[in-house]
Amino acid sequence: MELSNRQEQIIEIVKENGPITGEKIADRLSLTRATLRPDLAILTMAGFLEARPRVGYFYTGKTGTELLTEQIKKFKVHEYQHVPIVVKENVSVYDAISTMFLEDVGTLFVVDDTATLTGVLSRKDLLRASIGQQDLNTVPVHIIMTRMPNITVCRKDDLLLEVAKKLMNKQIDGVPVVKDTEHGLEVIGRITKTTITKAFVELISDEHL
Ligand code: ADP
Repeated sequence: MELSNRQEQIIEIVKENGPITGEKIADRLSLTRATLRPDLAILTMAGFLEARPRVGYFYTGKTGTELLTEQIKKFKVHEYQHVPIVVKENVSVYDAISTMFLEDVGTLFVVDDTATLTGVLSRKDLLRASIGQQDLNTVPVHIIMTRMPNITVCRKDDLLLEVAKKLMNKQIDGVPVVKDTEHGLEVIGRITKTTITKAFVELISDEHL
């Protein structure tokens, strides 16, 4: 996060004089309290300063990098998850390929009649099936999918960073966000490499501060 000159000045004042009230910071800068309010709010929200009622502002002593790291560690799956694209186990490889193009995704999740997760289809799974001799209209996806229990999943309250690590360690492009049901796991979302990239870009453009 880029700080304005005034915000840098405020941090210096609080560093040297904290705890100090907003009123006194304003005096030192020859500004009104109202003019300063947005800057103080930003610095507090971003974690540079801490405000204690009736005492004033403290300098937290955290560097920009420390604050950024804290921020990233707080991202939860449910804040970023996208709608999952699912297909039934019996659809043909041909239809799964069509779905992938139509929905513009790289990973499809496969479910049974109770909407329970049974498998995953990646681009390469479908490509591999396509270069064989089979008729793509007759081969159902459950023949070629990666199946449960070998599916890596995540839950809505997991940390996005943990999911990013799973994607790296398992060398996969996406994981389903699941919840438990009486039948097994229901797919309620998806986290992919694109999701992580989006979170990263948003962070840099300060939308989270
Ligand atoms: P691609 O193979 O198209 O590059 P991935 O790297 O995501 O895409 O997939 C690699 C293999 O891992 C594929 O066989 C796929 O079925 C499987 N796979 C993909 N996602 C998962 C997952 N969440 N859990 C387990 N296996 C997965």
